[in-house]
Amino acid sequence: MGQCSSQQRWLQPGDQITTNRIVFVYHHHGIYVGDGMVIHLLPLAKQSNSSTPCQNCGHTPSLHGGIVKTCLDCFLDGNSLYILDINSMYCKPPDEVVKIVTEFFQGIRTFGDYNFAFNNCEDFASFCKTGKKSSEQRWNATVLSVLPSAMLSGGRVIVGPAGGGDGVSVSCWFRF
Ligand SMILES: [Zn+2]
Repeated sequence: MGQCSSQQRWLQPGDQITTNRIVFVYHHHGIYVGDGMVIHLLPLAKQSNSSTPCQNCGHTPSLHGGIVKTCLDCFLDGNSLYILDINSMYCKPPDEVVKIVTEFFQGIRTFGDYNFAFNNCEDFASFCKTGKKSSEQRWNATVLSVLPSAMLSGGRVIVGPAGGGDGVSVSCWFRF
C-alpha cells in the first residue's frame, strides 16, 4: 500500500494533476475540469492495446489520442493522483485554465501533435495552467497528494457529495 503525503487538499477545477504512471520516470499530466473529468494530451492512440471503451466516459485507449477528455479512472490508469501545487503568481485563474484547456479539447485552439521531448502531456498541462510549457518553467512545483477521504471505497476515487472542491472528493489513490 502507498502512503499519502502530509500535504493534501481537495481537488478543484483548474488543478494541474499528475500520476506516478511510471515511478520517477514519467508522470502523466492533465488539467482537472470538474465533474470527475480530466483533459490531457495522449500519444496518438498507440500506448495501449485496450479496445474496450470505458463504461464511465467512453474513452478507448486504442482509438483515442491527442487531446482527450476522460474520467479520472482513465487518466490515472491505476496509479496515484497528485496535484501540482504551483505558486499562484505563475498561474492563470482556475476558471481561465478550465476555459483554455476546454478550447484545446474543442479544437478552438491547437497544440500540435504529441512529442515526447518537445510537446508532451506536461507541456500541454503546464501551458494551460501557466501559459508556459514545462520546459520554459522558472519555478519548482510542490507535488501534493489529494485529500484522502474517510469514505474510501476500496481505494477508488469517490465522486459525489463532499465538503470540498466542486463536490468531488478524491482519495490518495492506490489500486493494489
Ligand atoms: Zn473513463
